[in-house]
Amino acid sequence: MEVTRRTFVKGAAVAMATAVATGSMVACKTEGDGPGGGATVETKAVCRFCGTGCGVICEVKNGKLTAVKGDVNNKSSLGKNCIKGLHLAKILYGENRLTKPLIRDDNNTKGTPDGLREATWDEALELVANKLQDAWRTDKSRIAFWGSGQQPITEGYALAKFWKAGLLSNNIDPNARLCMASAVVAFMNVFQTDEPMGCYGDLDQADVFVTWGANMAEAHPVLYSRLTARKVSDKNVLHYDLTTLHTQTSASANKVLVFRPGSDLAIANAISNYLIVNNLYDKEFVEAHVQFKQGTENIGQSYEDGYDGSDLGKSVNDVEPIDFAAFSARMATYTLDYASQISGVPAADIEELAKLFGDPTKKIMSLWTMGVNQHSRGTWMNHCIYNIHLLTGKISKPGSGPFSLTGQPSACGTAREVGLFAHRLPADLLVANPQHRRYTEVIWGLPEGYLDEIEAPGFHTIKIFKELSKGNIDFLWSASNNWAVTLPNLTRFLGKDPTYKGIIDAFIVVNDPYPTLSTQYANVVFPAAMWVEREGQYGNAERRTTVFEKAVDPPGEAKWDTWIFLQVAKRVLKDTSIGGTNAFDHLFGFVWDDEKDDLIEDQREVNTRLFNEYRIFSNPDLNDAAQAINKDADGTFEAVLKMENKQLAPYEEYVNNDALTWPARQVDGQWLSTLWRFADGKQSEGYDELGVEMYGDKGLPGNISFYKSAGKKPSAVFRPYEPPAEEPDTEYPFWFCTGRLLEHWHSGSMTRVVPELNKALPEALLYINKEDCAELGISDGNKVKVTSRHGSFEINVSTNQRVAPPKGLVFAPFFAEETLINLATQDYYCPLSKEPDYKKTCVRIEKV
Ligand code: SF4
Repeated sequence: MEVTRRTFVKGAAVAMATAVATGSMVACKTEGDGPGGGATVETKAVCRFCGTGCGVICEVKNGKLTAVKGDVNNKSSLGKNCIKGLHLAKILYGENRLTKPLIRDDNNTKGTPDGLREATWDEALELVANKLQDAWRTDKSRIAFWGSGQQPITEGYALAKFWKAGLLSNNIDPNARLCMASAVVAFMNVFQTDEPMGCYGDLDQADVFVTWGANMAEAHPVLYSRLTARKVSDKNVLHYDLTTLHTQTSASANKVLVFRPGSDLAIANAISNYLIVNNLYDKEFVEAHVQFKQGTENIGQSYEDGYDGSDLGKSVNDVEPIDFAAFSARMATYTLDYASQISGVPAADIEELAKLFGDPTKKIMSLWTMGVNQHSRGTWMNHCIYNIHLLTGKISKPGSGPFSLTGQPSACGTAREVGLFAHRLPADLLVANPQHRRYTEVIWGLPEGYLDEIEAPGFHTIKIFKELSKGNIDFLWSASNNWAVTLPNLTRFLGKDPTYKGIIDAFIVVNDPYPTLSTQYANVVFPAAMWVEREGQYGNAERRTTVFEKAVDPPGEAKWDTWIFLQVAKRVLKDTSIGGTNAFDHLFGFVWDDEKDDLIEDQREVNTRLFNEYRIFSNPDLNDAAQAINKDADGTFEAVLKMENKQLAPYEEYVNNDALTWPARQVDGQWLSTLWRFADGKQSEGYDELGVEMYGDKGLPGNISFYKSAGKKPSAVFRPYEPPAEEPDTEYPFWFCTGRLLEHWHSGSMTRVVPELNKALPEALLYINKEDCAELGISDGNKVKVTSRHGSFEINVSTNQRVAPPKGLVFAPFFAEETLINLATQDYYCPLSKEPDYKKTCVRIEKV
């Protein structure tokens, strides 16, 4: 049955009414409630969940977090929280919190809830340190760490320093590889800097919104409420939703363009082509600011182990300059009719959108997230969106710009900024670049050349888990992750396929506040302090860095992750020296209390010292040797380490004042945010006045100077449409798309302990088109088996239209470990970013 616009609007209105509220509270009961209870203390924090980074105020009474409300002073969320944010207090108080370290003595119990026994911290730390040290000394290519975009900034920084400088290993990668890697590679390709240009304030000013494969209503609810508020404020504001299936986000759209999976590249290219052919692009802007390129094409698919090392795999990042005429000629194939034929979207709809992009009076904001990034051509699709905005000059202007939404609370702040990727050092620096290694060495006080041993990038996420499954990893450690639920192709990675049993033999360590499916595969589980049980910092999608204060103590013997990492580092590095001093003292002595032989007790002090060291990467003037390297360019502008442009303020500024959006610049003694990067204008109003003055050129068209890009010009890169890795056939006739829904965060390990959230969405369902149901002989509530080339799972079906796929496509959320939909998802990845495509596995469906 067709889903009418009316049905959608009604459904969305109900969902949104419960989704976003300003300043409301959801309270937990405490023993001290009522007369005579202790005083209530308020602390500041930022939400634990999505990349929106909403500010919250925590209320604490008798040592317990009793309630959380929206922080009206937080400039990212303006006091709003979605229902996950409103229930934050309860995520700390699930019945099954881990309070003691756990050890597994028998690997045969892996994959079951049994086999873990309680242990002392000393026993668990010694065991982990010994196992890591043995594996590291024997063959350091067989150790790995899987980090997270949910780790606080200083914690990620300390971890990156331990792994890269202490262990001299690049086998460390974050779960951001599964969510933002395509955006990151495209940022670096196009702008030579990993950051969005605009800010959330653009949502209040745009005339047209274009969502590209993004269900913002469920995945970024507070930002979506800002989008809908803008629409309500002005009836002329338009929203176009480009998607493979109707979602709650489609409800507010003036037009929903449902395209065949993977064909978004053809649509985006058709828009670029239309702008060029009809002279609707901004010639002045293009001449002043844009260079053109094309790259390796026909790049095939990346499923086989040898792909990355093959000649083709090694060539995927190659690009060559072309002129505008050649770029236009490449685009010429993408007529409206051709794109319509590939995508199934009417040519007139694509033309309508192209005309809006070409209208110089319209401010347009493109928003995208996992539909674009988790894509076998994810990096290319990011390029295609930038192409449109670069051709039209609709970028880095209030209300106009391409905005890549992040999935996790610190995907930008931690995973990307501090160097948790297998190929990176802190602050956009690369292990493969000798100048970047020298720069890192002086900040970390290492002898010159010390980091040359890590010049080759390590294993990316899928490679780590492939090698683990094949028995080639001896030691794996993870934190703020539940990889046994969230990885693709779990049939292989969890050893369900008998040829891949490596997970059983490897020594696996998991830091987590709760038992999860991942802890069922762990040899040691460290009970981790959660969110405001320690102080930390998150960096959200709009470059805003926010400190969250410690509000309460962790339960039992749970400890904060920074303490756990450094306790293990102290033990592992005890016999290693750097330049004649003990390696641990050399790297972490400044946060260690020698008298107590423990981490300095004051968390604020530990965080301040770590952050202020990390801050040097962005502010080389704080370190003479770093400054000397920064100035030691080889004569080309590109060679200068321009990290000083990503300035961060001292830690105290974030603690004592408020969140700041980097680059944070000091004017008359006050630290100010930069909201519109590279845009000239008053710094006090959020423009990049000081950046343009110091590094760019004033008076250019659009009042913009892309001073971090090579030649100060970002690249428009031609990327063709190439078909997805799998396409439906008679054996596997359905597309299978996965994603998130409002109530649950990622693997559900936190939101499912909140009764209200769990009751609201107690199980993962397979959303399916009613016509397909009829043909399959199934109806609502029936259990089906979903089988792909990679594995299978069982799930109940729903036609309730919360997610309404077209015929031939089904959708399921991934939060439920009992359903474990990722047993069936493919692990084909974008050859450039190595980010897997969770959106286009082909499956068959059978009634159970
Ligand atoms: Fe805000 Fe996201 Fe938290 Fe909801 S889950 S309150 S949108 S940060």
